[in-house]
Amino acid sequence: MLENLRIALRKQKKLILIFFLTIFLPALTLSVFGVRAIRNERFRLAKQEENEGRRAARFIKAHIQSKLEDLNRALDEIARDPAFIGKDYAAIYERSEKRFATDPLIRQAILLYRNEEPLFPLLLVLPDQKPADSRKAADASLAARMRRAEALEFVEKNFRAAAALHRELHTTASGRNLKAEMLTGQARCLQKGGDYGEAARLYARVASEYSDCLTPSRLPLGILARLQSIECFKRTGDFQQAVKHGLELFRELLKKPSALSEDQFKTYLSLAGEALDSLLAGEKSGQDSEEIRKEYADLKRLQADRVKEWSAAGLIRKEIIPELAGTLSQSGGYSPKPYRFSKNVGGSDLLLLAAWIPDRDGREAAGMLGVQLDSDYLLEGVLPEALGNVPLNDGAEVILADLAGRPLSGERGTSAALPLVTEYFEDNFPPWKIELFQAPAKGLETLDLRRNFYFWTILTLLVVLAFGAFLIIRTIGHEMEVLKIKSDFVSSVSHEFKTPLTSIRALMERLVDGKVRDGAKMDQYFSIIAQDTDKLTRLVNNLLDFSRIEEGKKKYDFSDTDIVRIATEQVQGFKKEQVLAGPDIRLEIAGEIPKLRADADALSRALANLLSNAVKFTPAGKTIRLGLSSDGENVTLEVEDEGIGIHPDEVGKVFEKFFQGRNALAHSTRGTGLGLTLVKHVVEAHGGRILVESRLGLGSKFSLIFPIKT
Ligand code: ADP
Repeated sequence: MLENLRIALRKQKKLILIFFLTIFLPALTLSVFGVRAIRNERFRLAKQEENEGRRAARFIKAHIQSKLEDLNRALDEIARDPAFIGKDYAAIYERSEKRFATDPLIRQAILLYRNEEPLFPLLLVLPDQKPADSRKAADASLAARMRRAEALEFVEKNFRAAAALHRELHTTASGRNLKAEMLTGQARCLQKGGDYGEAARLYARVASEYSDCLTPSRLPLGILARLQSIECFKRTGDFQQAVKHGLELFRELLKKPSALSEDQFKTYLSLAGEALDSLLAGEKSGQDSEEIRKEYADLKRLQADRVKEWSAAGLIRKEIIPELAGTLSQSGGYSPKPYRFSKNVGGSDLLLLAAWIPDRDGREAAGMLGVQLDSDYLLEGVLPEALGNVPLNDGAEVILADLAGRPLSGERGTSAALPLVTEYFEDNFPPWKIELFQAPAKGLETLDLRRNFYFWTILTLLVVLAFGAFLIIRTIGHEMEVLKIKSDFVSSVSHEFKTPLTSIRALMERLVDGKVRDGAKMDQYFSIIAQDTDKLTRLVNNLLDFSRIEEGKKKYDFSDTDIVRIATEQVQGFKKEQVLAGPDIRLEIAGEIPKLRADADALSRALANLLSNAVKFTPAGKTIRLGLSSDGENVTLEVEDEGIGIHPDEVGKVFEKFFQGRNALAHSTRGTGLGLTLVKHVVEAHGGRILVESRLGLGSKFSLIFPIKT
């Protein structure tokens, strides 16, 4: 087997070399180029995707930065306003309020002058809250009457008289704070005197008319009055009014938290909350109270935000203002360059933009005007705005993350571990980065392989390669098969020659030696020798015929031939050959058999082959029938035996050259596998056809049908 393979490979060396040089090598080279081209294409697409991503990220960055720059410019402009240079607080408040209070990007503003206390929070602190000392403003006679009112109230406990005096003082006093104080005193005295209805009304008046005034101890008068009015309304049993004022107070506190200190804010808020809670707990539910409860719940939600703002303001006081003050004190000359500052406090970034305030002659920096940026608005307002205007690939996702990589906007939804593009802000302000992720499902897969020219080229080459390899393997397989047939054939033919030759030689030796004297015995020996010689002749004839057929040189000599005579001669010949016990051979001729235009020799040999097969495969005692019949059109010659038969799966192959069936290989007498091939050739050369029927173990029938040509 291996030897055959080696020989086959050697024989097909040229073919293999040609295959290698003309198909394999070019295919391989082209495939390598194709794969590289695909890789390049992928790389190009990846690059393109990255560029698109970078463009998108830069667009987002530019959008956010432009917002900050706009704000910077506005800040700078305001900081150079004469109001700021001249420290005109009223104008400062007015300008700041106008520009900053409505800007969603700004959370709070800070004003800082060299060597002065910082003004923070700048927004929502009203200018006239800077308290004017009410007592100082009062003249001497007024002061004496005020003292009298106090004595009436606190010492003599004549509340009615005290209230009347306060009322009088309220009308005569000048100055808002003093007027407010007197009105409050009147209300307080009425309250003490038990006239809650009137007291409540007066307190409400103070709260609405003098909400911006402070008490002598600098407490917010409006708020205190409101608290008292609630108390008084409660006393009179007017729950509706009490609740109304409670809510008013709550709302006011939440709207203007920055006017108070953090502690004040919290205290008043909890007082108002408690008052409201107790009022609402006692109230019977009705249509009105439902609405009130709803409003209260809304306000409570607002309260949570305000509390957060307060703590943020606290942080700014602690973390940013000292930093800013330090920068200001170290700053040299005035520069229009904005100051940007960020600090991570408690996990979130405090972002500050500031502009320098020049001094009067514009040389030194006299102060700073800063704003705390609302980073939530940057993330939830500005970023989506930018995202809405930038074209993004499918599956692309943009997030803003801090420098440590913690996402600030949204969650990383895609499975991509690394961002395709990362973009940082200039000067790291804000100290964030823009990360663009591309879902892997998109990305490189955008390369549509099926439409790729190289892909098809490679596929074609692979198919060609596979086909070439298949052909080569087939050729080699075929070559190996031929080699096997050849060697089997040589061994079969040698065997076929050897058996009769050995027998002839042995018999001849005995005859020549004169050892056989008995005439009958001698006759038997001669007949065996004749039989073996016939066998050898048949064999040689077969081989010669076969080689002629293979070379296309086989010629037939047609003449009118008596097939009956040929059949009779062959049957007699075989019978004569039968020295040992064998099957019985019978010739059956049905009626008149016309002569055929045929090659008598070829017909004889064909018949001899059929008979020799029948004899070979039929045991002694069984019958072989040679039948001749004619239907006027054809002459049919049948050789039917009762032998071992042919395996059903081999019946179709018996006419193939070199074919030897399993039954033959198991049999002691082997053949060459050429007999039936030759028979078929002869029959077909005569325009006839050959049929075979066989049943394993029961026998076979070969029918040759020759047309009668006139
Ligand atoms: P060979 O010359 O070796 O006999 P043939 O071509 O005549 O070869 O026959 C081919 C094969 O057909 C045989 O090896 C045998 O298996 C089968 N065969 C032919 N004739 C008969 C038969 N009469 N009975 C059984 N098998 C037969």
